[in-house]
Amino acid sequence: MDYLLVAVIGLIIGAIINYFADILPNSPGLTHPTCPECQTKFTLKDYLLRYQCSQCGARLSLRHPLVLICSVGISVLVLIDPPALLSYWATLPILLLLGIIFVIDLEHYAILVKTTAVGFVLFLIYGVVLLGWKKALLGALGGLAITLFFYFLGIAVSKVVGLIRHKKISEVAFGLGDVTAATILGFLVGWPSIVGVIVIAIVSFALVSFVTLIVLILTKKYSAFANALPFAPFLILGVVVIYYL
Ligand SMILES: [Zn+2]
Repeated sequence: MDYLLVAVIGLIIGAIINYFADILPNSPGLTHPTCPECQTKFTLKDYLLRYQCSQCGARLSLRHPLVLICSVGISVLVLIDPPALLSYWATLPILLLLGIIFVIDLEHYAILVKTTAVGFVLFLIYGVVLLGWKKALLGALGGLAITLFFYFLGIAVSKVVGLIRHKKISEVAFGLGDVTAATILGFLVGWPSIVGVIVIAIVSFALVSFVTLIVLILTKKYSAFANALPFAPFLILGVVVIYYL
């Protein structure tokens, strides 16, 4: 296949990821993207080419070009070396959905029910076709059980810390969105691979959290619990590693 075509497909996927990451957290349906500063509707040219609002001059975030660059790079890499069991074209819907979940969790610390619902259907189909229904269902159940355990463990730890400090702590390190994300990814990778995905996610999460903590302490910006990282990007990293192991 032509590299130019693959690069263009990467650009289109990146633009769709940017679009959904802009509208999904703020509106119930598919709407026109609006300027975050003055709420004017973007023209197609301003949104896709100039990255700037022509009304007030506000610029789109650096995320827009970054996602496009990454998306083109990933599109080319997937062509050269597609993930296990998948072709280039079969990888694109997964790339698109995981890209949207990745960006939204990074920016909003949230995994939306809308993206999880789409992922439930999409990954169930992929899992059943590629791995068989038994492996796919067990993968989802495994993902659910393991992350639910960590979810309740997180609540218990928060309660204990709250008792020791004599105040209520409402933040939990591990949310229900992470539980649903691990469940739908279980369909995609199956049992027992989902265990590997979660282990990789937790280890890389801990490593990056540790480094972030050190940097925050050194720069004196540290305040307890305020700087927890989103977990879904690490789950997605786990899926990528499992696919290429
Ligand atoms: Zn504006």
